Amino acid sequence: MYNILAVSFGEIYLKGKNRGIFEHKFMEQIKYAVKEFEGVHVYKDSGKVFVETDNTDEMDSIIEKVRKVFGSSVISPSIKTLKDPEVIIDKTKELFKYLLTKKDIKTFKIKTKRSDKSFPIKSMDFSAYVGGKILQEFSGITVDVHNPDVEIYIDIKRDCYISSERIRTLGGLPVGSNGRALLLLSGGIDSPVAGYMIAKRGVEINALYFHTYPFTSERANEKVKKLKEILEEYCGKINLYSMNMLEVHKAIREFCREEETTILARRFMMRLAERIALENNMDMLITGESLGQVASQTMKSMAVIEDAIHMPILKPLVGLDKAEIIEIAREIGTYETSILPYDDCCSVFAPERPLTNPKLSAIKKSESNLNIEELVEKVYSTLEII
Ligand code: ATP
Ligand code: MG
Repeated sequence: MYNILAVSFGEIYLKGKNRGIFEHKFMEQIKYAVKEFEGVHVYKDSGKVFVETDNTDEMDSIIEKVRKVFGSSVISPSIKTLKDPEVIIDKTKELFKYLLTKKDIKTFKIKTKRSDKSFPIKSMDFSAYVGGKILQEFSGITVDVHNPDVEIYIDIKRDCYISSERIRTLGGLPVGSNGRALLLLSGGIDSPVAGYMIAKRGVEINALYFHTYPFTSERANEKVKKLKEILEEYCGKINLYSMNMLEVHKAIREFCREEETTILARRFMMRLAERIALENNMDMLITGESLGQVASQTMKSMAVIEDAIHMPILKPLVGLDKAEIIEIAREIGTYETSILPYDDCCSVFAPERPLTNPKLSAIKKSESNLNIEELVEKVYSTLEII
């Protein structure tokens, strides 16, 4: 039935002079999202973006992709027609007939918007005219302008678009409109959600995963890769970096107190992440930390971990409960992958009783037993781009 998808901007509307940049990024992301479909054309017409397809059978799959692109507020599967009143009436009847097969309709309303003032009939008059034709054609229905069972929307721009369904999308800002950041992506539930939330604010995301091969398996890598792919449906392309933390863990085990392991290891992760971010033009790090969730996420622990670097760390889940995070993970489709069993480097080397109240001075003293620069170099030398 539908040959085109009308996409309305969300928060981009509030942008003043910069609006063009946001719209451009949005179009790029939409094109990326539908790249696998043939015969698809993406263009702008008077303040909306349109995704046109030669293959109407693929409209549902296209909707599924476009819905996930940050920056829109609603999408409407539509029929694109010539701006000829008689053609519009025929197509509106066709649409009405189709809608009747889908639901019980007793009342309807026609709403016209005329951005192209050269169209000869005024909006209100045209709505009434088309409404009259519908009443003639179909029996047992009436017009209800306040609370109709269906509203048919005729949008007259450079072309004419007829629609009735409005599908809410995810909102946010187009990825790439607000800088770049590096997500510390583990195989757990939290970090993919954190990446999703920051990408939603327009940030281009790349990801870094630490393993401790051979203590962590190839399967753990596969899991992180899968999570990255799910995130890509929202964020566009993500580069995934990985590094082996084994040397750091070996050194900590040999020279430091066991209960400090997590804090020390995380300080190394931050140093390495900061380095990758700086080398690749990214301004901030992102983690899935949530205040109080585990020992390394108490106020004190977070402060001591962050002390290792200068770069700001975004923690979008900081105020959320685990249940709230899980709800988002389910909605975005990462949950099922995140709960697959796997061996995380943090769990393999986790101390029996991790510190919850670390002292920076004590941690720094322990670190003085380690050759930090050399360890950072060793881990960095294992860098791979997956
Ligand atoms: P997640 O569910 O994201 O694994 P978590 O509740 O297991 O989080 P931690 O293990 O304390 O919490 O990790 C906190 C954050 O540190 C993670 O959300 C992630 O951003 C980062 N992180 C932890 N382990 C790794 C890893 N192996 N590789 C990359 N980042 C990691
Ligand atoms: Mg984890």
